[in-house]
Amino acid sequence: MADVNWTRAGKESNLREGKPVAVTAGGQRVVVVKGPDGLHACGGKCTHYGGPLEKGLLVGTVIQCPWHSARFEVKTGRVLSPPALEDAGCCDVKVEDGIVYVTAPREAPPPPIEGEDDRTFAIVGGGAAGNAAAETLRREGFAGRIVLITAEPFAPYDRPTLSKEFMAGEAQPDWLPLHGDGFYQSWKIELLTGRRVTALDPAEGVLEFEDGEKLTFDKALVATGATPRNLDIPGIDLDGCYLLRSRADAEAIGENIEDAARAVIIGAGFIGMEVAWGLRQRGLDVHLVAPDKVPLARVFGEAVGEWLLGEHEKAGVEFHLGITPKEVRGDGGVQEVELSDGTTLAADVVIVGIGVRPAVSFLEGTGLVRDGVVPVDATLQTQAEGVYAAGDIALMPSHYTGKSHRIEHWVVAEHQGQHAARAMLGSEAPYKEVPFFWTQQAEVSISYVGYPGETDEVAVRGEVGEGEWLVGYYENGRLRAAACKWMDREILALMELMKAGREIPADVLKDPDADLAGLLDTIV
Ligand code: NAP
Repeated sequence: MADVNWTRAGKESNLREGKPVAVTAGGQRVVVVKGPDGLHACGGKCTHYGGPLEKGLLVGTVIQCPWHSARFEVKTGRVLSPPALEDAGCCDVKVEDGIVYVTAPREAPPPPIEGEDDRTFAIVGGGAAGNAAAETLRREGFAGRIVLITAEPFAPYDRPTLSKEFMAGEAQPDWLPLHGDGFYQSWKIELLTGRRVTALDPAEGVLEFEDGEKLTFDKALVATGATPRNLDIPGIDLDGCYLLRSRADAEAIGENIEDAARAVIIGAGFIGMEVAWGLRQRGLDVHLVAPDKVPLARVFGEAVGEWLLGEHEKAGVEFHLGITPKEVRGDGGVQEVELSDGTTLAADVVIVGIGVRPAVSFLEGTGLVRDGVVPVDATLQTQAEGVYAAGDIALMPSHYTGKSHRIEHWVVAEHQGQHAARAMLGSEAPYKEVPFFWTQQAEVSISYVGYPGETDEVAVRGEVGEGEWLVGYYENGRLRAAACKWMDREILALMELMKAGREIPADVLKDPDADLAGLLDTIV
């Protein structure tokens, strides 16, 4: 230990159990935690977007990032759950004469591949779920062949940023790839880009590519995500009209808007609202057209929806709500959009965000698809043994609601990819994660946990508006979902409580003095 660089982290007597503290060691942020079994420390910066882990939620020795819910084991710095994919780094801790010393976080090497395994696991889809599954197989010690197949020309990339920082012109090119060069090679994951799978035979364990080549697999995960819906109106094929789903879509929009002054956005869902704000950051005139009366009210309720509408209006977005587009016109490229109320909006670019459809057409005839989705059991296995599905295509039962849900969130897809990987390796544990997503709305990030459904009671802590707030959505007296602005620890606590199947009465959620994180003591 002679050449270890120790950094003084303060007096041991100042550390309180359950209260993480941040210090700097070797120029890096480190989080120090006092647990019942002693002191622990790991890298203090979330490896997703750099969130400050000491402000997150600590449950036992697992710390959860306040920003987007990634979990790390403090004892080892190991990443446990997405959206972070890389370890935070392990730190040594010692106490001398009542003073705590820590080392800077150490980078973890790729997981070793030990033993031999002649099986091939194929993963169809290189999005959130597919990527997380491939990494998890290796982390869990799978020594066989992993083939990760994507029809896109890119290695897995960060889709959430496309409608947010990328549209605002803030994202640097190196923000997009989920990993640096050489990652898939060093983890021995065979990444096939630009390869579309056109058929899958679950009984024979064979999949076929567009060019007729075949791949035999022992187990497969299907994680093909979704395809954006388009409008069926005249002129929607004109140059300058875009859907936004892929990196290629975002890059094409990015190039086109360099000289654009006026954008018309169709749809007031996540794409529409996030893109509207992003394009305002670039100085475009932005008009948003949608049939909804209040944006995102279906997800967040009227009060939050009204507030989001006001924030966007303050940012200069002009709304045309309760209206649909009728026709796009232009000579060569788009020039204007006519709306159902007769208004005509000048436009250099039109971006359509009106929802998606699960990408399952290549599974036709396999028996895996029902009503356009792939039903799975609580381990994410489809009705074909050894074939799993995760992400936007998967309809899976929830231990919390007792119903089946298909959820279109990035972090859910990653959680499901992880879980499916463990199931492919033999785990029979049922999936228990509670859905989480975040959305960038004007200047603020809103976090949401829980399930879609019918709300019959809304409980609010604080007041929806400028300050911090937390909204609980109840159905038949049971918390179904919650959204918040800046009450990160509270919403993460709700996520953990729901995961544990606990009830959270509305009067507790509303009470600003009720310590939601304190309720976790009963489930640790
Ligand atoms: P979305 O969130 O489902 O919203 C679709 C919007 O389009 C709604 O406002 C809908 O109105 C409207 N719409 C439907 N049909 C229309 C029509 N014919 N004309 C005009 N508007 C119409 O879908 P999205 O915004 O396209 O997002 C696509 C996917 O990406 C979703 O899975 C979403 O969850 C995901 N995404 C997520 C995030 C995030 O989590 N932060 C960010 C971006 C994208 P009605 O409500 O009245 O039907």
